Amino acid sequence: MSIADNIKSLKKETEGTNVTLLAVSKTKPAAELMEAYDAGQRLFGENMVQELVEKHETMPKDIEWHLIGHLQTNKVKYIAPFISMVQSVDSMKLLQEINKHAEKNKRIIDCLLQIYIADEDTKYGLGFDEAIELLRSEEYAALKNIRIRGLMGIATNTDNEKQIKDEYYELKTFFDGVKASFFRKEVSFDTLSMGMSADYKLAIEQGSNMVRLGSTIFGARVTRLRD
Ligand SMILES: *Cc1c(COP(=O)(O)O)cnc(C)c1O
Repeated sequence: MSIADNIKSLKKETEGTNVTLLAVSKTKPAAELMEAYDAGQRLFGENMVQELVEKHETMPKDIEWHLIGHLQTNKVKYIAPFISMVQSVDSMKLLQEINKHAEKNKRIIDCLLQIYIADEDTKYGLGFDEAIELLRSEEYAALKNIRIRGLMGIATNTDNEKQIKDEYYELKTFFDGVKASFFRKEVSFDTLSMGMSADYKLAIEQGSNMVRLGSTIFGARVTRLRD
């Protein structure tokens, strides 16, 4: 199937639900992104800053770009003028840096806290306790130019469906708890980003409302070192 067909069938699959589709376009050339764009897709996710900046420059300006990979604090300045959402906030230091550059650009930048749920030691993210500690801190309360919209998580890369399901269940439960404790009055805390090509159906079953799909839309990627 073509990229356009993939987009259409995914839109159909999620029609009538509250699930948003983020097209993960890392490593793919702009021409392929344009195929998705022409099929109506406007939300794109990238995991490397330089690639994201280049694509933002060349592609239509009504695209909303999400950063989904680990972000180094010294690179925040490059994306701060235009990024729609940073899904991969994994430290207070990074959140403060995003806030600083958002302020310089006279913007409020939407963020998700990336929560560590996988049984792997290669993934970034905050532990449940660390996330709570961050949300309770005075440093966080002082940040005026970021807005936490929800949580993001990456499940273990495994064929064990029960394990993936359990990890997503835990994240959904945590999301509900965080919402009740810290964001009860903020309707903008509304995004639970979980699910990739291999496991998005399980993620939706467990309450995800944003799935990040790469290979399902664009086909397999050639592996690169920092993927
Ligand atoms: C690459 C990536 C995805 C998409 O992966 P697919 O398996 O191709 O759907 C989703 N989320 C994150 C954080 C990624 O880095």
